Amino acid sequence: MIDQEKIKAAVTQLLEAIGEDTSRPGLVDTPDRIARMCTELFGGMEQTAAEPLSKRFPVDSSDMVLEKDITFYSMCEHHLLPFYGKVHIAYVPDGQVVGLSKLARTVEVFARRPQIQEQMTSQIAAAIMEELHPKGVMVMVEAEHMCMTMRGVKKPGSKTVTVSTLGCFETEEGLQTRFFQMLRP
Ligand code: ZN
Repeated sequence: MIDQEKIKAAVTQLLEAIGEDTSRPGLVDTPDRIARMCTELFGGMEQTAAEPLSKRFPVDSSDMVLEKDITFYSMCEHHLLPFYGKVHIAYVPDGQVVGLSKLARTVEVFARRPQIQEQMTSQIAAAIMEELHPKGVMVMVEAEHMCMTMRGVKKPGSKTVTVSTLGCFETEEGLQTRFFQMLRP
């Protein structure tokens, strides 16, 4: 459960620690604003992918399903700065599929918590494998990390790409090739 009072106190302390006057008009409501914002930014902490992936539909075909360009925003757990970009999810159904919006909801569950991109990529793939039991799943994430662009090495525009493959995507190379072909605009 997200503790709003604790966040407020911590933000006040942080502002004081950098030498700010927390009573000035621009900052007076900031701790409260951030506490409320955290409910949204870290709302995935209180969720699992079981809920969005619970409503499934039977299908006969086992053709690959690809949902590409799912926009996400997450927070790097090393710096608490945003990283954001696109997630592409493909799976080969084994008798059932989920509504496409549920894949986007699954991304939200894992994005809205302190994260590292590699872990988020494999968590999304594992959740789909576990809940939907497809023949295989492949997830690719392309993201820009604010901790790379506004601090440290300052390389704006650089993208980090991570991939996770499970099931038939691991064993059948042709499926991975098809995934990359389908991603091309
Ligand atoms: Zn970082």
